[in-house]
Amino acid sequence: MENIGLIQKAASVIAPRKVGDRLFGDVGAALVTDKGNVYTGVCIDTSGIGFCAEQSAIAAMMTAGETKVEKIVATWKDENGDTFVISPCGHCREFMRQTHDGKMDIEVVLSKEKTAKLSELLPYRDSWERV
Ligand SMILES: [Zn+2]
Repeated sequence: MENIGLIQKAASVIAPRKVGDRLFGDVGAALVTDKGNVYTGVCIDTSGIGFCAEQSAIAAMMTAGETKVEKIVATWKDENGDTFVISPCGHCREFMRQTHDGKMDIEVVLSKEKTAKLSELLPYRDSWERV
């Protein structure tokens, strides 16, 4: 799937809503699996115990019984409705590493034209050096 198609899927689930003093759904993510299926999710930004849109999309994929992400993207919209691709936070990078069947070969979308392998975003993930 082209980056722009996945970006559009991710942006389509953005639906910010306030619950109490918290804002949910202002970041949307989409992933495509090795089987070509697309799963989406939104962020649930609770104080200290929430989760990101990427984790939500991965949970949807797991719920459907799949485990191999090929490509993933997270998006956010400003007050003018302009869409931005946002890179995964450190927690999401580690979450992808630990939940993904293919380990470090996930393609992370960084823009319409640019992607990076998870291994590039998390380069020293399993370093154990005897001293
Ligand atoms: Zn995150």
